[in-house]
Amino acid sequence: MGSLNIENVKKAFGPVEVLKGINLEVNDGEFVVFVGPSGCGKSTLLRVIAGLEDSTSGRVVIDGADVSATPPAKRGIAMVFQTYALYPHLTVKNNMGLGLKQAGTPAAEIERRIGIASSMLSLEPYLGRRPAELSGGQRQRVAIGRAVVREPKLFLFDEPLSNLDAALRVNTRLEIAQLHRRLKATMIYVTHDQVEAMTLADKIVVLNAGRIEQIGGPMELYNSPANEFVAGFIGSPK
Ligand code: ADP
Ligand code: MG
Repeated sequence: MGSLNIENVKKAFGPVEVLKGINLEVNDGEFVVFVGPSGCGKSTLLRVIAGLEDSTSGRVVIDGADVSATPPAKRGIAMVFQTYALYPHLTVKNNMGLGLKQAGTPAAEIERRIGIASSMLSLEPYLGRRPAELSGGQRQRVAIGRAVVREPKLFLFDEPLSNLDAALRVNTRLEIAQLHRRLKATMIYVTHDQVEAMTLADKIVVLNAGRIEQIGGPMELYNSPANEFVAGFIGSPK
């Protein structure tokens, strides 16, 4: 489970329409990448999908249920941000387990899930450390681990690698790809990096000024961009 329907979603902030009618279907288990220039509405769209922001019109349906009508704890969505958003005073283990603890998950179950996630993300040596004692890449792995332990059906990543240097970006990208293969969860991933989009995506969605320019597989967009804009972002120049 983890299929998604975005139906004519529009979002305005005051007089400014940021999303101008987004329609998209995401299949269960798919890895979908949103690309587009800064300010085109990628983060806003992710926030609307997560139900963190109401759309002005249209709706987001996950496994048949309208997101805005589902309580946050029941949505089965976990989001990973560019800035990690870890608690500085908590250890890695407690950062990963806090959400589960607050949701009333039994301690033994929290332990079990942290064990699995920390093994997948090679975080076992760091479970007792605090975020300040970790590198940027390790911190982002903790933020990803915190999402994994919640066992969501839908992961949302908002430019998760942007704050990392080039070598770490490659490693963390490979880890995310491996995670997708293992968990078989649906993932939506925002980036403005063409290599990330081409290597991670089953399906790429090219956004521009609040609209979708093209949706397609990486090679499809690369070989047959619908227009100059898509060509400039993904494709080989015509
Ligand atoms: P992206 O993630 O593609 O860079 P965003 O979704 O963050 O773009 O922003 C799209 C547009 O919406 C930008 O012009 C931004 O200034 C505007 N915007 C985003 N959030 C708000 C907000 N809470 N209030 C007003 N304007 C916003
Ligand atoms: Mg953004």
